[in-house]
Amino acid sequence: MSHVLHRSLLQSYPTAVKGDGVYIIDADNKRYLDACGGAAVSCLGHSDTSVIAAIKNQVDSIAYAHSSFFTTEPMEQLADFLAERAPGSLNSVYFVSGGSEAVESALKLARQFFVEKGEPQRKHIIARRQSYHGNTLGALATGGNLWRRQQFEPLLINIHHLSPCYAYREQLSDETDTDFVQRLGNELEEKIAELGGENIMAFIAEPVVGATLGAVPAVAGYFKRMRDICSRHGILLIADEVMCGMGRTGALFASAQEGIEPDLICIAKGLGGGYQPIGATLVSEDIIATLRNGSGFFQHGHTYIGHATACAAALAVQQRIESDHLLDNVTLMGEKLQQALIQALGDHPHVGDIRGRGLFRGIELVKDRESKAPFDTSLKLHAKIKATAMQQGLMCYPMGGTLNGKDGDHILLAPPYIITEAHIAEIIDKLSRSIDLVLN
Ligand code: PMP
Repeated sequence: MSHVLHRSLLQSYPTAVKGDGVYIIDADNKRYLDACGGAAVSCLGHSDTSVIAAIKNQVDSIAYAHSSFFTTEPMEQLADFLAERAPGSLNSVYFVSGGSEAVESALKLARQFFVEKGEPQRKHIIARRQSYHGNTLGALATGGNLWRRQQFEPLLINIHHLSPCYAYREQLSDETDTDFVQRLGNELEEKIAELGGENIMAFIAEPVVGATLGAVPAVAGYFKRMRDICSRHGILLIADEVMCGMGRTGALFASAQEGIEPDLICIAKGLGGGYQPIGATLVSEDIIATLRNGSGFFQHGHTYIGHATACAAALAVQQRIESDHLLDNVTLMGEKLQQALIQALGDHPHVGDIRGRGLFRGIELVKDRESKAPFDTSLKLHAKIKATAMQQGLMCYPMGGTLNGKDGDHILLAPPYIITEAHIAEIIDKLSRSIDLVLN
């Protein structure tokens, strides 16, 4: 009996002992094709020699120096790398250990910005239903995923959830994209009118929704409209790119693909590619100038801010992606994966939608394609497909049962940026078989 406390207290897991490119090998020498990067984390696969060398090198020189005493070379270089490539004036980088911390940091930066700016009444946060922004209490309260929230209510107040830009389920059959965007914009305007624009601190959203909905990109023009409305009311826009950022959608920043400049961007998973735990919040010049001219201090912090080894690993991950032009592969293989999924599953009676961008793809399962009715959540089909795929030697990320009776089971695919067409063929073969084994 293992003493490891897993999230599932009833299940046992194989022991991963080795990585080999896009594969993980367990203690019984079984190979699993990692078609989801764990949770959209392992963007370079599992044994990249340049990243391993960078980690060893950093540990040999200085593994960790507390950020209230020192900065380190990899921390400085990684901040430069990100600031030079981030949209607009997001040129300050606050390093943390993961996605939830990046979101908490963004929310607290937003709050402190308004307090120091002399607008302390800006306390409200607008987020979206069926969203996930992390599991710490502040980030959990911000997310609109009922399944994750329900046992912890009451959570933080002053958080309001609007409709997600989820075309498959929220767009009316006779509604054009423009009208859909207009309607969602109006919903935001109405909420602003209700609360008073001068009382709202931030709007937070994932440019491409990952875990909760399964790789749902926004309809064209949606983020521009939300950006315009927020700017008109002085509301900060926080882009949660923890899952969709750092190349996953074919660009380093998914918000850049939407043509917008957020005030804060949260990144994590693909930043370090799983080689070390790391996340970051990118902050606009305006916010930093206000804090610099105010208290001169960000009232927040964690022990492992800018951990030297984590920064060295992330820098090596990002340099390898850039020097080997891996984002071109993300776009190319992403299209091939989409086409292969459509060919294999497009006519399946229980596959309602296949969507995504880059190497971030989602499959939505339905009881009936016509009505789009989801399967009963108690069936836990997504979990059964994950377990069956693991038996076949395939990792895919399942999600479902968000308790609002609307959305069904999703399978998220987010393979490493180094995948080839042969890997795609293996993914399609094992995934189709797993879906058929569970649903037939
Ligand atoms: N935001 C988003 C969009 C995420 O997908 C996640 C993790 N799935 C988080 C925040 C939280 O990240 P972490 O698990 O690293 O705390």
